[in-house]
Amino acid sequence: MTTEIYLDSNATSVVLPAALAAATDAMGQRYGNPSSTHATGLKAKVILDEARACAVRLLGVGNGRLMFNSGATEGIQTAVLSSLVALRERKDAGEAIGTLLVYGATEHKAVPESLGHWNRLLGLNLTLHKLPVDHHGAHSLNALRDIAGQAAMVCTMAANNETGVISDLAGIEAVLRQTGSKAYWLVDCVQGLGKLKLDLSSTRIDYAPFSGHKLNAPKGIGMLYVRAGAPFTALIQGGGQEGGQRSGTENMAGIAALGAVLGALERGDTFRSQAELCNFRARLADSLRAALPGVVFNHPFDTALPTTLNFSVPGLSSRELMDVFDAAEVRVSAGSACSSSKAAPSYVLDAMGFPLWRSAGAIRMSFGPLTDEATIAAACARIERCGAALRASCLIPSDRTAVPHDGLLQLGVEGACSWMVLDAASRSCIVIDPLPEHTARIEAYVRCQNYQVQAVVSTLPNAGRAMLVEALGRHFNRAAEADAYGWPQNAAVIALDNGAAATAITLGPQVLACVPCGTGNELRAYLLGSANEAQLPAAAVRFAFSARPAQQALHEIISERTLLCPTRDEENQFCASMNAEPSAIIAADAQLDSSALEAFLAAHPDACLVDVREPYEFAATIAPLPAGRLALSVPLSRLAEYASAWLGAEQAPLVFFCRSGNRSMKAALCLRRLGHQHAYSLNGGLALATPVLLAA
Ligand code: PLP
Repeated sequence: MTTEIYLDSNATSVVLPAALAAATDAMGQRYGNPSSTHATGLKAKVILDEARACAVRLLGVGNGRLMFNSGATEGIQTAVLSSLVALRERKDAGEAIGTLLVYGATEHKAVPESLGHWNRLLGLNLTLHKLPVDHHGAHSLNALRDIAGQAAMVCTMAANNETGVISDLAGIEAVLRQTGSKAYWLVDCVQGLGKLKLDLSSTRIDYAPFSGHKLNAPKGIGMLYVRAGAPFTALIQGGGQEGGQRSGTENMAGIAALGAVLGALERGDTFRSQAELCNFRARLADSLRAALPGVVFNHPFDTALPTTLNFSVPGLSSRELMDVFDAAEVRVSAGSACSSSKAAPSYVLDAMGFPLWRSAGAIRMSFGPLTDEATIAAACARIERCGAALRASCLIPSDRTAVPHDGLLQLGVEGACSWMVLDAASRSCIVIDPLPEHTARIEAYVRCQNYQVQAVVSTLPNAGRAMLVEALGRHFNRAAEADAYGWPQNAAVIALDNGAAATAITLGPQVLACVPCGTGNELRAYLLGSANEAQLPAAAVRFAFSARPAQQALHEIISERTLLCPTRDEENQFCASMNAEPSAIIAADAQLDSSALEAFLAAHPDACLVDVREPYEFAATIAPLPAGRLALSVPLSRLAEYASAWLGAEQAPLVFFCRSGNRSMKAALCLRRLGHQHAYSLNGGLALATPVLLAA
């Protein structure tokens, strides 16, 4: 039984069972080549003819052309090539042509990319011109009016794939007519199929590409409408299929499947009505509002498809939201392209004028007109589950104080990191080298767990601590005067192993000592350990925090077991030690295939499975974890603390896992570098885990 709730239908959609059956029939019973004149070929040709006839009726193709192809990207190429070839011919014949290739600022990349490509290849040297959109994602008709006379081609979309915003095609058409524009007009109808009423031949639209997989047909099948009289140049020449418009033996399985979807659309007995879809969207939106306080929707509701929600949540990145939804088996997508550590802002939301946090933190939740009531109800429950997981992790505000954490917390950003030393019993903590980017996160964490911050210290003098201290308000202990490093002037004196004296502050059963470190004593390091009668022996120092991991200056006052916690961590090392061996590690040795997991666990009953996903992912997880075994939740932010314990004890095998195998590999390599010989990463993560890992 699958627990997955697929809410990413704008990316691709599940294949309609009738479409699957039609494709199977086309590959099995009616496998003929529709160009063959014998009976086997004729049986296949019926599929082709019926699918086309249905598309022609449904889309109002009239006297225009309707050809099958591989999808919208090909349709866009064909439309652009056709227009640009015609423009070049007109230009060569001495006619004045427009100079601008106009495209909506929120178009799918396939449009500007193919405009640029064919413009270059055909040597036309026309200028690509972005048509702005307003705050609601609607094309600026005034801007279009201003340039319509100079436009050689205009490309707009029926509905946007990231936001669902529906274009005012009637308004665009009116401007093109009123200005007497001779521009060829392409309308990318990919997201409109089955969701918007289209009667193409009654409009001025010259080209309309479609993609089957966006509406429950398989990938690799699409259609292109070309208005009667609009210029046409075949993109692919060959055997003359599709009336010579698109050569190559037809994708009959795809055409049969698309035909089944179009037939269902025409009959009106398969897909949900607009009212039902609006109701589904309202329920999802209500659940999001209840679960994620402050959520904002990045599109209007009245001029957008009811099947798309695009939202951002203050204080949460799209990566975090993606991860928590994925853990709850709800498939959504980042509204923007994501790099591993930082989300790139969405150009669609940028064009709509949203601030960076909204365009970089956006999530798209999209469902199709096939979605049923039970899926929406289950999705609403999962959204609530995600909200609860995020609240418990202090990532979103909560009325209740969360269970306090103990130990070390590492917050990382682009190679730099801040550290927090937490003591749950006394509800107090110390922050080391806070980065400005972490201010909101640390403040929220401290408030949510109701900690008192004893000190905010840095390894460099006059580093930016003020912002955090101010944000912490009453949660910051202002009793003691602090020096330029934030170190309290009244800290007690303590003796170190090299005989030197240092000052230290107490945090629960441990002390944090401050020591000079590096040339000119400009840098400082902080040692965390258990003191014994105003002594901090090297063997008792568990962690040393410093801007540079391998500080000679520390060698006399820490031990081989001390973990060096850097405040710069470009290579995701998390922590090091004096005898860590960066060069000796071969990543392949640390990889464990999920197919080998069962045998591995049987051979190593003492092995510990460690989930390195963040706590909110762990809490939101739906899929059961390994059979008969509990996984320990150790997010990467807490790896240093656990590593210290794992290295000290009998070294039982550690099998790290995460969603994709990426984070767990970093954890396994860290442990190996530190000298743990039996640290492994589950290859491919939970995403590829066999039923062994996911079995109940
Ligand atoms: N246009 C829009 C609006 C889309 O959403 C997509 C797919 O994401 C495309 C074009 C390209 O479609 P395909 O990749 O199926 O060719």
